[in-house]
Amino acid sequence: MDRQITKGKKMMFVETRGNDGKKPAKVPFSYAILNPSTSFGGLYVPENLPKLDEDFFIKMSQKNYQELALEILKLFEIDIDESVLKEALSLYDKFDNKHTPAPVSKVKNDLFVNELYHGPTRAFKDMALQPFGHILSHLAKKRNEKYLILAATSGDTGPATLDTFKDKENIQVACLYPDGGTSDVQRLQMVTNEGENLKVIGIRGNFDDAQNALKSLLASDTFKESLKKQHINLSAANSVNFGRIIFQIIYHISAYLKLLKYEILAKKGDESVNIKENIESLAKQEIEVGQKFYIIVPSGNFGNALGAYYAKKMGLPVEKILIASNINNILTDFLTTGVYDISKRELLQSTSPAMDILISSNVERVLFDKFGAKRCKELMSDLAEKKSYKLTQDELAALREEFDAVYSDDEYALWAIAKFAKEGYVLDPHTATCIKAYEELKKQDIPCVICSTAEWTKFAPTMWNALQNDKKKYSDKEALEGFSKKLNVKIPAVISSLFDKKILHPDVVDKSDIEKTITKFIKG
Ligand SMILES: *Cc1c(COP(=O)(O)O)cnc(C)c1O
Repeated sequence: MDRQITKGKKMMFVETRGNDGKKPAKVPFSYAILNPSTSFGGLYVPENLPKLDEDFFIKMSQKNYQELALEILKLFEIDIDESVLKEALSLYDKFDNKHTPAPVSKVKNDLFVNELYHGPTRAFKDMALQPFGHILSHLAKKRNEKYLILAATSGDTGPATLDTFKDKENIQVACLYPDGGTSDVQRLQMVTNEGENLKVIGIRGNFDDAQNALKSLLASDTFKESLKKQHINLSAANSVNFGRIIFQIIYHISAYLKLLKYEILAKKGDESVNIKENIESLAKQEIEVGQKFYIIVPSGNFGNALGAYYAKKMGLPVEKILIASNINNILTDFLTTGVYDISKRELLQSTSPAMDILISSNVERVLFDKFGAKRCKELMSDLAEKKSYKLTQDELAALREEFDAVYSDDEYALWAIAKFAKEGYVLDPHTATCIKAYEELKKQDIPCVICSTAEWTKFAPTMWNALQNDKKKYSDKEALEGFSKKLNVKIPAVISSLFDKKILHPDVVDKSDIEKTITKFIKG
């Protein structure tokens, strides 16, 4: 499929499972992000991708992150005014360093970490949700339309979604989390949020129950009726929304530019560093223009990995994208055997809960890109009906040109956390799964860039278990203090202050009461 950009034309979006003749055949970006549901339950994807060449990379290596992001977004030619894009990108001002929201640290000679967690909720979800939230609420206001965003979270999407939509006009958010299924820090980030337009609801059950509750809500006629009466539209803020994916392409490109332009940090622990000072003291070009590198992604719903895939396709010199999974190793199975089979699987709980997932939604976008809409629809119907699908040998070979995968269990991840922490670098339990990929899948002597998806502070009990080499049940508070003292790493104020905040969303309900609770909330 040739996807050259047609100059001067706005980029349009098509559907991964083809068009049913009722929905528009092609839609602009604004439509795709406001109405992410498509024909046959597919996803929106860009019709073409812009191409980046060496001149572009050289030119861009002089720019800061916000400038780079704007240039890339402009190449996509989406139907959003440049002034709005600039406002959206200015939300990176809220990160630890506004010009470098995603710093890259050097951990070993050939191993770098793209730190994507320096935003307001300390998880990589902020990288996309901050600017995305601004664009979505801008569109809602401009069209004078009201939107309800429904989110089910295992812990990171919830806080990031609430933070980005807090007090935004024309938007309401209802967020479901499994009570007892998140860390204390994650729960407090949600239940202490002061936004008037937000509702946070604990569910008696696990993440699957929360997600299923959301699905039955979306199918409920009485619920749809009450939304209609109040002229409220539904949208989604999970990574099925392309509005998030577009921002997840950029940081992979930015990491490469940092390897090119001497902007690598080497630091001990998690101390805040003065970036200028470090650039001067460590100035070294790590990679030549055009030299290839590996990207390693701890994957769940495959949004982060898809961003890397699109970046590669646009011209970023990526050798391969290495997928790290945990014991829910469906992606590893799929990318090594070509069979995606959930029929005999049950979701297992791990120390990397944001990767505890069996249906990894964004794989579909890669299938479409490689094999077209007809085949993609066929495979997705197999998944729905037979709970499995199988690629041909040729199809598998095509995927393996781009990806390889490996998984690690909790024991391995905890071992990696302790090993790296002792050597002076702190990896959270999700990022720690990438070490296995670095050890086993790297076939060439070229740099590896790990995407680090969360700050350790969100998973302090696991971090403290790793360091103490025990299995005791610590509270987040004691684990935060223990870990930070022992390794002399800072706890940011946005985390430590959570424990003194007022609980504003105390509701924990049975599944059967969710509809009632949300209906009451949207009526105000
Ligand atoms: C969401 C999340 C992931 C998984 O990212 P995907 O884009 O869904 O693959 C990994 N780690 C952390 C900490 C996360 O919050």
